[in-house]
Amino acid sequence: MSTPEAAPAGTASAGTAPARLLAVRGLTAGYNGLAVVRDVDLTVGAGEIVALLGANGAGKTTTLSAIAGLIRPMGGTVEVAGVANGTRPAHRLARSGIALVPESRALFSELTTRENLRVARRRGSEGADAQDRILDLLPELKKCLDRKAGMLSGGEQQMLAVGRALVGRPRLLIVDEMSLGLAPVVVDRLLPVLGDVAREFGAGVLVVEQHVALVLELAARAYVLAHGRVVLEGTAAQLRTDTDLITASYFGDAATAEALEAETP
Ligand code: ATP
Repeated sequence: MSTPEAAPAGTASAGTAPARLLAVRGLTAGYNGLAVVRDVDLTVGAGEIVALLGANGAGKTTTLSAIAGLIRPMGGTVEVAGVANGTRPAHRLARSGIALVPESRALFSELTTRENLRVARRRGSEGADAQDRILDLLPELKKCLDRKAGMLSGGEQQMLAVGRALVGRPRLLIVDEMSLGLAPVVVDRLLPVLGDVAREFGAGVLVVEQHVALVLELAARAYVLAHGRVVLEGTAAQLRTDTDLITASYFGDAATAEALEAETP
């Protein structure tokens, strides 16, 4: 299950393995000294989309937070482009080449779309160029430039959250449940944006998403967490044919073990 097939979807150049951008080894992380995720190994290539799946409370957000450096890992290593990633507050994430789109979107609701994008700019580095590129990618934002973020629809807010994350030209974009609470038609429009980010920005994308079937159409590979451990991993193509196995992993270790046993020739 863990051997990637050739030419997965969601990679910058189909047929060749993308250069490894994120390498997570033996990651253990949690809160107040109690581990919530244990011994997680995970990789994302440059220009590759990788999905992190799992039931509520499985530890997805905790894994993302530890990878981004928002919480200090209790064990294991996180490397971005071969460099160990340290812990840092959210507003310093861009320094490590990582951008996080949190579940909450974390926009400045009293600022306009234009101002939200401007605030995200690193002083002196990216200017109007970056904004133009982002608006090309997310043309729906053009009509929202002078509207306050708090007045935008859920889908527009989410686009702004993605756009804002891209201002610093991250090498790795981490997206936590971007479709939460959005209508299916909006989700259908939003998720493919991540494909554009991977293709046009060359960024690796690690995405937590509850719409499993949709995200497996987009991603090259996926990992499934249950109770803080990776219980399944494989190419999206493999996992699309094993949806029973994914479902089983959402319902607990016993069911997963049973399903895995049934899979074994
Ligand atoms: P969901 O899909 O519901 O967002 P998740 O897979 O992202 O879930 P996490 O949010 O990582 O899971 O939570 C994993 C476990 O860690 C849960 O039991 C949760 O209660 C606990 N947890 C999350 N954040 C904290 C925190 N700040 N302090 C203490 N425990 C936490």
